[in-house]
Amino acid sequence: MRAMVLNAPHTPLQLEEVATPKPNEGQILIKVKTCALCRTDLHIVDGELSPPHFPLILGHQIVGTVIEKDKKGKFKIGQRIGVPWLGKTCGHCSFCLSHRENLCEVAQFTGYHLNGGFAEYCVADERFCFDLPETYSDEQVAPLLCGGLIGFRAFRMTGNAKKLGFYGFGSSAHILLQIAKFQKREVYAFTRMGDKAAQDLAKMLGAVWAGSSDEAPPTLLDAVLIFAPVGELVPLALKAINKGGSVICAGIHMSDIPSFPYRLIYGERILRSVANLTREDGEEFFKIAAKIPIHTHVTTYPFEEVNKALTDLREGKITGSAVIKIFTTPS
Ligand SMILES: [Zn+2]
Ligand SMILES: [Zn+2]
Repeated sequence: MRAMVLNAPHTPLQLEEVATPKPNEGQILIKVKTCALCRTDLHIVDGELSPPHFPLILGHQIVGTVIEKDKKGKFKIGQRIGVPWLGKTCGHCSFCLSHRENLCEVAQFTGYHLNGGFAEYCVADERFCFDLPETYSDEQVAPLLCGGLIGFRAFRMTGNAKKLGFYGFGSSAHILLQIAKFQKREVYAFTRMGDKAAQDLAKMLGAVWAGSSDEAPPTLLDAVLIFAPVGELVPLALKAINKGGSVICAGIHMSDIPSFPYRLIYGERILRSVANLTREDGEEFFKIAAKIPIHTHVTTYPFEEVNKALTDLREGKITGSAVIKIFTTPS
């Protein structure tokens, strides 16, 4: 099969002919249709995260069809499924046993420990794959698999907060804004300085305010989600929230957080991070996604142009989500 392979950090992915993987017990073989790009992929290419081995096939927002499975498997041959970041957990550590499998001591992640979806085929443990709402196209649904559902885990940590700030208005934020609007909450969108395209998208999707991240919002917020991997945003976000509010860092990597005066977090303000997802997060998220429905704003790239997509993401040129098209023919 053809795969875009990362052989070392700080190098472009290489288009290579590699062996098609064979499914082991409990795994399915998937013909990949689309795979959305995530900032985590960029962190791996840029050496900010260190996966356990190279060569590695990135991509953890995989949409494809099942072409081989166990007799007992829950999916059908030909069924469209989604593969997320959480690829495998142990099922018996203290985290797995307390509904926190996202924190499993030996969790394996798709496109990190396990080969991912920037390839024509991949295998996955079927217990961690999701059935996808039929109303979404292959391109539209792919960004929901990480930007949507890990974002949703972060979003739920805002509780009943009415006024929400999103710092970094990319794939996750533009999906969650639509859920926030559905739930009649107000979103204040903070973008890179002068990123008019992202601000326009935020307003078009219903943000009550959009501006640059160095601007103060017109009102104090109840909670802020930080999607951009920029530590300097943490003190800014703490300044933007009211007493009792939360700042939730939703990314897997962030540059160092500068020191800040205690008064910024005093008043029972909360600062926390979000790590990975549980299967429960995914199931709940897709229930809501089937109901709303969410319109993902997608830029597609052909399979051979994953590197171009990564560069565009690094340079802030993507508005919404980037999706790689692998097989475009019907399954
Ligand atoms: Zn991701
Ligand atoms: Zn575990």
